[in-house]
Amino acid sequence: MKNSLHRILTALTILLLFPVAIAVVYEYVRISDSEEMITTVYKNQLESIVSSVNSYAQDVAGTWALRVEQWLKLPNDSTVLQRLINENSSILAIYTTVGGSTNVLYESQQSESSVAYVDQILDTEAGTIDQLLAYNSSNYRKFQSYPLNNDRQMLCFIGNDANEQPVICWVEIALHQFLQNHLAPRIQAIATESFVIALRDTSHSAPLIVSEMEGERSYTYDQEGDMWLFPSVKIGISLKTQTISDIAGKRVKEGLVLMVIVLIVLLAGSWFVYSSVRREILLARIKSEFISNVSHEIRTPLALISMYIETLEMGRVKSADKVEEYYGVIGNETRRLTEMVNRILGFSKMEKGKHSYHSVVCDFNTIVEAVLTTYHLRLVEQDFDLQYTPTAGLPKVLCDKEALAQALINLVDNAMKYSRDSKVIEVSTGRYKQWVYLQVKDHGQGIARKHQKLVFDKFYRVTNRNLAHEVKGTGLGLAIVREIMQAHKGRVTLQSRPGEGCTFRLYFKAVKDSFKA
Ligand code: ADP
Repeated sequence: MKNSLHRILTALTILLLFPVAIAVVYEYVRISDSEEMITTVYKNQLESIVSSVNSYAQDVAGTWALRVEQWLKLPNDSTVLQRLINENSSILAIYTTVGGSTNVLYESQQSESSVAYVDQILDTEAGTIDQLLAYNSSNYRKFQSYPLNNDRQMLCFIGNDANEQPVICWVEIALHQFLQNHLAPRIQAIATESFVIALRDTSHSAPLIVSEMEGERSYTYDQEGDMWLFPSVKIGISLKTQTISDIAGKRVKEGLVLMVIVLIVLLAGSWFVYSSVRREILLARIKSEFISNVSHEIRTPLALISMYIETLEMGRVKSADKVEEYYGVIGNETRRLTEMVNRILGFSKMEKGKHSYHSVVCDFNTIVEAVLTTYHLRLVEQDFDLQYTPTAGLPKVLCDKEALAQALINLVDNAMKYSRDSKVIEVSTGRYKQWVYLQVKDHGQGIARKHQKLVFDKFYRVTNRNLAHEVKGTGLGLAIVREIMQAHKGRVTLQSRPGEGCTFRLYFKAVKDSFKA
């Protein structure tokens, strides 16, 4: 049996666990691939949001440039310029530089004149200005910004006058106000429920503008990009509730949990298959033992019967007493054989559910007493001391009298068979809650814990104490007791310690109306 089990275990390992291990490794590799993919997809999405914020700022500056250029073409009409200033409170000043000299078109009263700063840029950044002029001649307008201080920025671009001559234009901007007025509503709209978008000055970690203010934030972003218009400003963007690595991590975790569940299910399945096969093998073994037991048990009485009959037939036995004794033996052995065959057939009927029980309300003690009285002679013959202690006033039970008698006989029979030298058997009745019980206690060899559940299985016999080999049996006695108790919706319990005997209890449900206070 050990060999077959080993073979099964090896087969299970190869057939189930090996493919599972491969699947687990494959899934693990796939998870890290998809983690990378998720990260890339999100990064791309965040990047496109950064671009969209930038192009919006660019558009605002573009419209301003168009309006300044409109004035350049019609310098006598100052309404365009006036409207531009009125509508955009972030504009602090507007200058133009023509032929090396800088003209003031507008200067707000709050800020001091930046003409000197413009001239300084013209001196130091001549190369960049030339580049802007070159772009302009290719019909492309580029903006260049120069910071005056943290908040004030000088935006430089090229416009064309009425004669299509390039003019260097300067718009001085209050940066924070510009971001607040033009970009804050925009980033709010883009951010919606999913993102946090922030604009910050490179010199500060705290943002100038952020799409949401609630809660503490650590100001680290999944993606950061430069603002094209003002390089000193960064656009930071994150997912609102979780970071990209959170999302990827969650995916990995879910994958792992799934793998663990699959593994557990497979292991449980393997264990189930293993234990079912083990049980089947055990059953096959005890079935074959049963057959050899039964054959042995049938052969012995048959041999005795035929021997006595032959002796009688030969007419060798002269004394009448001897003849009577021989007939007695033949009768006893025949009864024993019939009993055994009946027991096997009866059990098979019970198992198939074909046995019909005739339950009636009856007095427990009366039945037990009647059975013990008929059995008494057999006990005495084998020097057993039967001590019966009934509990008076028990409620009535609904049971099949014959079935109860058979269960009791099987238990007493076993007590006799497995008692060796201690020949005291105690039978008692009692009540526990809504149950009435019958107890059979012996002081024999007992049953080890690991066999206690199994002895109720059909054909199961405890072999390691080898008494079962000496003692005849079919392994059906306790299986019959359990069948009977199940049919009565009752139960059978066993308490035992090796060497200290066994206590079996049969619990029957008491009939409700028969309870006495
Ligand atoms: P059997 O025909 O072998 O007696 P049972 O089903 O009646 O079959 O019992 C199953 C096994 O349980 C027995 O083989 C024996 O090993 C063990 N057993 C049953 N009753 C007792 C008992 N009173 N004391 C010790 N062992 C017992």
